This record gives sequence, C-alpha cells and structure tokens, in this order.
Amino acid sequence: MSLQSKTALVTGSTSGIGLAIARSLAQQGANVVLNGFGKPEAIEKERAGIEAEFGVTAHYSGADMTKPEEIAAMVAETETAFGAVDILVNNAGIQYVSAIDEFPVEKWDQIIAINLSSAFHTMRAAIPGMKRKGWGRIINTASAHSLVASPYKSAYVAAKHGIAGLTKTAALELATHKITVNCISPGYVWTPLVEAQIPDTMKARGLTKEQVIDEVLLKAQPTKEFVTVEQVAAIASFLCTDAASQITGTNLSVDGGWTAQ
Ligand code: NAD
Repeated sequence: MSLQSKTALVTGSTSGIGLAIARSLAQQGANVVLNGFGKPEAIEKERAGIEAEFGVTAHYSGADMTKPEEIAAMVAETETAFGAVDILVNNAGIQYVSAIDEFPVEKWDQIIAINLSSAFHTMRAAIPGMKRKGWGRIINTASAHSLVASPYKSAYVAAKHGIAGLTKTAALELATHKITVNCISPGYVWTPLVEAQIPDTMKARGLTKEQVIDEVLLKAQPTKEFVTVEQVAAIASFLCTDAASQITGTNLSVDGGWTAQ
C-alpha cells in the first residue's frame, strides 16, 4: 500500500486504460477521482466497487475535458475533498479516422482539446498544490502515435506528439520540486476506443474487420498481440513509486516493438 495518503485524479477513467490505471493506483492505497462519460449506473458501480475492493475513497467528476472551466473546478473540488492532487493522470482521449481533406473541423478541435489541451489545463490547476506539498506525479497517456504517424489520424497524431512535448517541458520546469512528469506510449490496446475506430478504418481503407485487425492494427505491432490495460496501469503505478523518482521527462513505450521499427 505504497500510495496510502495520496490522491490520484485520472481523467477519462470510466473505461479502458484510465479505469485500469485508477484501479491500480487504488490497489496501492491511493484515493482516486474518476472522470469521464458513461451511463451513471455503470460509473457508480465502478466507483463503489473501487471503494469496496481496495478500502480507499473514490469520487467521480463528470467534468468535460473540452471545457477549461470544468477542468479547473474538477481540480479545485479534488483539492477541497482530499487536500491535493498528488498524482495527476491525463488519460482522456478520443480518436477520429479520416483523410485530412475530409476531416471535420469540429473533430479536429475536439481531439486537440481532449487529447492535448486538457492536460495543460489540469496541470496548470494542479501544479501549485503539488509544489506546496513538495511531491507530485504527472503521467500522461500518450501513444505510439506520439513518436510515429499513421495516415488518416492527423488530429490524434498531432495531439499525441504535442503531449510528448508538453511532458518534457513540464518535467524540466518541475525537476527541482520532486514532481516527475512522464508519458506512457502504448501501442494498440484492446479498449472501446480501438474497437470503435474499426468501422471507420474499414470504410477509409475498404477492408473487412479481420483485415483491419491483422493488416492495420497488429501490422504495426511486431509481437502481433494487443497490449493489455493492466500492463499500461502497472507502468503508471511504478512511476508513482520512490524507485521512479529520477524518471522524468521520458516517453515510455509499451508497444510490442512498434516504434523500434
Ligand atoms: P476509452 O474510449 O476506453 O476511454 C476514453 C475515456 O475518455 C473514457 O473514460 C471517456 O469517457 C473519456 N472521455 C472522452 N471524452 C471525454 C471528455 N470530453 N471529457 C472527459 N472524459 C472524456 O479509450 P482508451 O483506449 O482507454 O484510451 C485512453 C487513452 O489511451 C487515450 O488518451 C488514448 O489516446 C490512449 N491510447 C489508447 C490506445 C489504445 O490502443 N486503446 C493506444 C495508445 C494510447
């Protein structure tokens, strides 16, 4: 229970990677604030389940990561309830698959807002509290697409390259405050986000579902296996330990060898 007395705010944690990270941090003893969209009953089940399973306090914020004022309120509410945001995980993200010349402008704006700008807004609000406590961990869920590109994912690739740069900048600014800032860059992880982009990829490339999985998704991944959410969560938990206190400004690939190519 190494994270007892810490509080973790995980954006986009009602599903997929974020939920696994929140559960993993709670397992280490951290109180958690869940965030994201979904059916209220399903979210409440996850929230109450975390409290019951791990004996921590779990709150939920429905803040929309496209809205800076809701983000600031979420951080302020967390600080009021728990004293501070000790661990900030910027994980909320969406995808949209289309050629640039057909890419809807509102989708571009939405992806940049959720996948990139929200991390700036959460950090801006949470860093003063971390500085006051003299300890903090900021973990950004980037992607293999923070290092390499794929066609038809212009906004996503731009946002993920952006988050990698934001991570480095924040790490340098906070280096003497005992606050580390890193990103984790998964390859393809089997989550609702990946499943949802299959129909659009089928359409954009004229492929069947099986072809998209074999020829597009796992084509890039030399191990030919999807990453699991638990594997990504384990890295996030490790980054919160004392053993990781000198790891800052890095981009940790968990991608089955994708970006080694
Ligand atoms: P997911 O769809 O399962 O989860 C996304 C989460 O973000 C959900 O909780 C959703 O409600 C939340 N969200 C979406 N829009 C939001 C908004 N406006 N405000 C607040 N919350 C919002 O997806 P996932 O695969 O778990 O993705 C999580 C992160 O991991 C994303 O940043 C994604 O880019 C990244 N990632 C995923 C993969 C993958 O293969 N699944 C690979 C690399 C990186």
